[in-house]
Order: sequence, then C-alpha cells, then structure tokens
Amino acid sequence: MWNDKRYHTLNYEFKKLFGEKTIKLSIDGNFTCPNRDGKIGENGCIFCSERGSGDFNSENYKSISIQMAEQKSIMSKKWISNTYIAYFQNFTNTYDTVENLRIKYYEALDNPDIKGIAIATRPDCIDEEIVKLLAEINETTFLWVELGLQTIHDNSALFLRRGYKLPQFDKAIKLLKEKNIKVVVHLIIGIPNETHEQIMESVNYISSLNIWGIKLHMLHILKNTDLEKYYCQNPFPIMDEQEYVKLVCDCLEILNPKTVVHRVTGDGKKSDLIEPCWSLNKLKVLSDIDKELKIRESFQGIYFKEIL
Ligand code: SF4
Repeated sequence: MWNDKRYHTLNYEFKKLFGEKTIKLSIDGNFTCPNRDGKIGENGCIFCSERGSGDFNSENYKSISIQMAEQKSIMSKKWISNTYIAYFQNFTNTYDTVENLRIKYYEALDNPDIKGIAIATRPDCIDEEIVKLLAEINETTFLWVELGLQTIHDNSALFLRRGYKLPQFDKAIKLLKEKNIKVVVHLIIGIPNETHEQIMESVNYISSLNIWGIKLHMLHILKNTDLEKYYCQNPFPIMDEQEYVKLVCDCLEILNPKTVVHRVTGDGKKSDLIEPCWSLNKLKVLSDIDKELKIRESFQGIYFKEIL
C-alpha cells in the first residue's frame, strides 16, 4: 500500500517528496490565542495546556533561529537527516499583523536545511490578507496549515470551548484551497458523550473536503488544565487502548486514501498526562493499529465513498 504501511503516512509522503526522513522542528513563535486573550474567550479550549497545545519547546522564550538550532542538535542525535520542516506549533500562529507574521515565517525559512513550513492555527484567524502571505510562501516552499477542528458537532465543540462554529472552518478551508494551500485538520477522539457514529461523521466530512492531511488524537487530560478540573468533578469513561485502536482503524477505513495521516495517537509528556496513561506507550499503540488493520485485511480508504 504505502510501503510497509496500510495507511498513508506522513513518513511515506516525505520520503516520496524529499527522498529521506524529514524532521519537524517545533517552534514557539511567541504568539497568543484569541480564545485565551479575551477576544473570543479567556480560558481557552478546555484541554489546552499553558504552553498552548505545543509540546517540546523551551520554557523561556528564545529567538526562532536559536530554537531551531537547539532542536536540530537534539534531533541529529536521534536521526540522520538534513531535511527539516519548521513547525509553528504553540498557540495560534496566524494571530498577529501580516508584517510580524512575515518576519517570523521568513526567519524560520532563512536556513538552507529548512525545506518547508507548517503553521498551526484557528480557522477564525485566517483571512484574505493572511492567505495572501501564505500563498506567497506556498509558491516557493513546501507549506501546510493546520486547523484544530476536533469535531464537526456543535455540542462537542461547546464542551471543548473551541470558540468557533463549523461555517467558520468551511470559510477558512475555501480561502486556503483557492490558493492551493495544503491543510491538515486535527480531530479529537474520546470527547465525552460523542458517539462512534458522530466520530465517523467528522471523518467523513474531512474525507469529502479532499483535505491534504489529518491528525487523529485521543483526548488527553493534562495536569493544570480545565479538563483536569472537569474530570475530577465529573469523571467520564476513558477508552482503553484496544477500543481506541479499533476506533482509529474504523476512521482509517472510511478516510480518503489520498489524505496523508500525520498522526494516529498523541504525544503527551509523562509528567503532564493524567489520562489515558496507555497512550504513553506510543510504539505499542502504533503497532496495535498495524496489527488490527492486518487482522481485518483492511487499509485506509477501503470503505471510502467519493462524493462527486
Ligand atoms: S485554539 Fe489552540 S492555543 Fe487556543 S485555546 Fe484552543 S488549543 Fe489552546
């Protein structure tokens, strides 16, 4: 299928594009988020950590060039590669003036080993002016934009305190697609009270939009988040690893085979994670997904129905 995998992985795509392993360098662009600074909300999404849903970055703010140099030095001990993607991960990375965005993005791109740029943001922080800048960058480098949709269902979005409605997402997708900008959409599995059918509806929705990439996450309960407080007061059932694995396989089976799967499980830090503890053993989750697809004699898109 996709080399040794039964789903269309990002590694497969990178090897096809760049001929070698490609490494993402997580960058904190020193942004904030309208769902935290009071423009839309003050407390953020219920699961959001104080680092704005980013993970492996430095505590005290350092320049983008310094962050990248530090990360390259760490990563080079793990992997042999000269191909890197600058990944603006923390908070909302299009939430600034176009001039400031331009300075930050080009600082990251001004490095010969950087072959592309990934920008994580919210659909309500995408407008024509920002898309113009992104389109300019898209002409000369490998760019994708990540949008945290999490679910297409209003009740679940309200629980998550996402702070925007589905039409806002559709509008951002339209603006980005008009300029051929690749989009990666995040979906969360395990939102309390969300049914199997509703999760499948979210995946079908993404599939029908012919979106470039998807990230599937289990809902992580992290320390010092409002979700931790909620969970302590209203403990809700947490899926076990086998349930999650089966659900991810169900999602992959209906997903458009062209969609690149960037992630099928989370990367929570051990010191921060309350639940699901089993997600710390990422290699086991990945291997169990492979095994389950093999047992089913299945693969990504086996049940995908293209809507013409
Ligand atoms: S949009 Fe992202 S950064 Fe903002 S509150 Fe939600 S998870 Fe946190």
